[in-house]
Amino acid sequence: MNASKSSYDVIIVGGAVVGSSTAYFLATNPDFKGSVLVIEKDWTYQRSATALSSSSIRHQFSNAINVQVSQFGTEFIRNFKENVAVDDDTPEIGFHENGYLFLADDDRGAEVLRRNHATQIDCGAEVTLLDPEALGKRYQWLNLDGLVLGSTAERGEGWFDSVGLMQGFRKKARTLGVEYIEDEVVAINREGDRVVSVTTRSGQTISCGTMVNTSGTNGKIMAHLAGLEIPVEPRRRSLFVVDCRTPLGPGVGLTIDPNGCFFRPEGQFYLMGTYPKHDPEVEPNDFDVMHEEFEEEIWPTLANRVPAFEAIKVVNSWAGHYDFCTLDHNVILGPHTEVSNFLFANGFSGHGLQQSPGMGRGLSELITYGGFKTLDLSPFGYERVVANRPFLEDAVI
Ligand SMILES: Cc1cc2nc3c(=O)[nH]c(=O)nc-3n(C[C@H](O)[C@H](O)[C@H](O)COP(=O)(O)OP(=O)(O)OC[C@H]3O[C@@H](n4cnc5c(N)ncnc54)[C@H](O)[C@@H]3O)c2cc1C
Repeated sequence: MNASKSSYDVIIVGGAVVGSSTAYFLATNPDFKGSVLVIEKDWTYQRSATALSSSSIRHQFSNAINVQVSQFGTEFIRNFKENVAVDDDTPEIGFHENGYLFLADDDRGAEVLRRNHATQIDCGAEVTLLDPEALGKRYQWLNLDGLVLGSTAERGEGWFDSVGLMQGFRKKARTLGVEYIEDEVVAINREGDRVVSVTTRSGQTISCGTMVNTSGTNGKIMAHLAGLEIPVEPRRRSLFVVDCRTPLGPGVGLTIDPNGCFFRPEGQFYLMGTYPKHDPEVEPNDFDVMHEEFEEEIWPTLANRVPAFEAIKVVNSWAGHYDFCTLDHNVILGPHTEVSNFLFANGFSGHGLQQSPGMGRGLSELITYGGFKTLDLSPFGYERVVANRPFLEDAVI
């Protein structure tokens, strides 16, 4: 599919949720007058993290700026229809605002929950710490053995339709003049300290003023095409949908055992996964599901934590890739320090879906004004990579 022009002010490489959010916030910003091309290699999005995600949003981070980015995400999702409506189209995103429930089974874990809680409260998040008695009252399906503390959000956290969010951004952006083509960027052409154009698999070379790298787990490969480096690599995450003979009833949130295994309702079923103990870089085309993770870790852990899960049957499973930032589990956002018109949005480490509204808005501000106008996202900048100065996020699932 050919682009209609040979030159654009902004070329966005990768048109899933982060690329489409960036396109949306550029298109809806009255101060931005430029042209935008989104190049996406696969319009089915079948291997994008966006489509394979567990589609959830939380305010319970250790880092204040991550709390604030997700708070904006929640606000955007709550007003989704108004934000992305096109004519009489009324898109649905199905926000289930059931919260996350983090659990601790020792003093160290409790201390982390308390410390994070203080940060979250400072940001205005509606989060509550629960002692074992309070946990027992709220969650009658929960085995309290060994638990010393829990933390949940009263509002603002939950899950929604990830592809719906992406399609909402994409459709609105296209309606407002952003062009999308289905093609793959195979070369990024530089003159000195600037990217001047990209070349696609179909043979088009298209000039740009700014290039945005929103290619997800391909982010490192795109950086290499421009002669640049980022500490980001693909890591496999397997998810399992199970049928439970005795459902837990209403009010169940995304519940995380102290050992990292988690579950949440998924319609009449439950979605389960874990933060794998053995977590190597994965081959870009390897989407095999790690069934042994379910048998050896997830099921034993969650059946102990929730006795009803002793009688479950896996009805679906898939694997997706996190774009994992090995420096500090946080996104790298904004310009390369030397190639200033190459903008990164890579390394989300498992929280990029919920961050897509905030990060897309931030990128649009950088492009339009040369700096952030709303949330100051500069701590996520590439400078920390150069300085080898981690900006750590502890609450990674
Ligand atoms: C199993 C799993 C569970 C997750 N759960 C959550 C969650 O609950 N909450 C949350 O916030 N986040 C979650 N995440 C993370 C989240 O899904 C991602 O951070 C987010 O979707 C990243 O969006 P993206 O647009 O940057 O990347 P992607 O969705 O991966 O999209 C990148 C796009 O770039 C395209 N592309 C790549 N290379 C090229 C090229 N050369 N030319 C053109 N196009 C190219 C790809 O085709 C793809 O469509 C999860 C991820 C996984 C895998």
